[in-house]
Amino acid sequence: MTEERKRQGLVVVYTGDGKGKTTAALGAVFRALGRGLRVAVVQFIKGRWKTGERLFAERVDGLSFHVMGLGFTWESDDLSRDQRAARGAWAEGKRLIGEGESGLVVLDEITYAVNYGFIELDDVLAALRSRPAHVHVILTGRNAPAALVEAADVVTEMRPVKHAFERGVPAQAGLDF
Ligand code: ATP
Ligand code: MG
Repeated sequence: MTEERKRQGLVVVYTGDGKGKTTAALGAVFRALGRGLRVAVVQFIKGRWKTGERLFAERVDGLSFHVMGLGFTWESDDLSRDQRAARGAWAEGKRLIGEGESGLVVLDEITYAVNYGFIELDDVLAALRSRPAHVHVILTGRNAPAALVEAADVVTEMRPVKHAFERGVPAQAGLDF
């Protein structure tokens, strides 16, 4: 088989309550870039501060980060703002998956947007099903819905054994963000 024929895009889910979901996805990003793939990361979190991964991405060709915005400031209702922001991020994610330019698309923390009802799980599943055959998609976040687990090719559940946070150690730059 030629390399081209062996290439098959996979759907990978990192879920569970333990630390490591986003960082596992970023490890695959590192690997994909090394293989010359273009990579897009969509983060379904509020913009807030810049993380180490976003700072690094600014210097890396072929790697783009899309961070869910804060929504529209004139909207008084927070949930509706979050929903608009989540929908905007998903529209971008869906476009990136469908266009096939990126060999790897990461949908980081997308399970929150689905579990809060901000975006439709069926719409996510449809986008995964109809994606170009070579595109890998990694989805992260706690409580991955059963239908997503069913649709995925690889699912790993991070199980917390211990975390420094439990002894009052705050999140550390360079390791946690
Ligand atoms: P990371 O981004 O470090 O891979 P994650 O994606 O698995 O973590 P999230 O639910 O996205 O986990 O939370 C991110 C932040 O919360 C990180 O600062 C991480 O260290 C922290 N965190 C993750 N799991 C736990 C846990 N079980 N207890 C306390 N803090 C946690
Ligand atoms: Mg995470």
